[in-house]
Amino acid sequence: MRNNPSPGSIASISSLVVAFISSIIVFLFTQDWQSSLVNLIVVFGISFFLFNFLLQRFIYKKIKLIYKNIYRFKTQNPKLRKKLGDGSKDPIAEVSKEVMEWMRENQKEVNLLKEQADFRREFLGNVSHELKTPIQSIQGYVHTLLDGALEDKKVNRVFLKKAGKGVDRLAELVSDLTAISEYESKEIHLVFQNYNIADQVNEVFEMVEQLAKNKKITLGFKKDASKSFVVNADKHRIERVLVNLIVNAIKYGKEDGHVNVGFYDLDKNILIEVSDDGEGIAEEHLPRLFERFYRTDLGRSRELGGSGLGLSIVKHIIESHKQTINVRSEVGKGSTFGFTLRKG
Ligand code: ADP
Repeated sequence: MRNNPSPGSIASISSLVVAFISSIIVFLFTQDWQSSLVNLIVVFGISFFLFNFLLQRFIYKKIKLIYKNIYRFKTQNPKLRKKLGDGSKDPIAEVSKEVMEWMRENQKEVNLLKEQADFRREFLGNVSHELKTPIQSIQGYVHTLLDGALEDKKVNRVFLKKAGKGVDRLAELVSDLTAISEYESKEIHLVFQNYNIADQVNEVFEMVEQLAKNKKITLGFKKDASKSFVVNADKHRIERVLVNLIVNAIKYGKEDGHVNVGFYDLDKNILIEVSDDGEGIAEEHLPRLFERFYRTDLGRSRELGGSGLGLSIVKHIIESHKQTINVRSEVGKGSTFGFTLRKG
């Protein structure tokens, strides 16, 4: 038997049962099989008409109405419009299917909303914590200046410079926060193009030249990787990846050290590695390094102007390219961050 019989088949079966029982009763009383047969036909006809009418009128039409409402709700919701029957074949089956689907979609949405609420709570906590330090520093210097230090030629420029540094740090933080919230809240639209990655690394070297000079760090390419490679990627976003990795390599690199970039041919992809010979990272930190706001040494990162968001931005960009990023490091010897890009 079908799972969801139609009103017609329910009415026929029920009428047949009623007609059969009444015919047996008639036969038992009259012992006349002809009257019993007539009774069977008449009772079957009347009860079929009645059952069918009642089922159609009070149950089936109402189910169709429920289906129509689901249909209307779904067509007003473009996201749910897919996979919609017209409900004319078997409304009961369609309704139960739609309700199950609706429950599944709702459950998914509830889980997503819960995740987003957790994310927002944690994010807000971290953000306010990060903003507090530069704001307090700016506030301190500005008030000291207003309270009289402005007239003191020995300190006024120093304090103003320090307040200015706090403002720069705030701006940097806000820029990183904007980027991370963009990456974490929606899919990034990438603009792919073919270009020479070695040229781009040279451009980034020029950008960070002064930073490297301050620490007497030499920027260069690995010996075995001087070939130029054409990659297919979003140039603008990859620049951010390279800047973040190279700036980190300088920030956490040692004085008089070296930062080298290498390219390796991996058949369909190019592996790009940024290495430094700096302080390195202890093994226990490696699995969490790409989490937002994660630092191996909070005080040192802050002192160097870090927001703890750089590597998580890098990871988002690389993963949106459907590529991978990894790190290997040894304390005291240095670190190597490597990511892949599709060949152009
Ligand atoms: P930050 O803004 O603090 O530098 P990142 O997300 O860029 O944030 O890096 C996260 C943490 O990873 C840093 O605080 C630092 O402890 C560690 N780190 C990143 N790059 C290096 C590196 N090249 N050498 C040593 N430690 C690093």
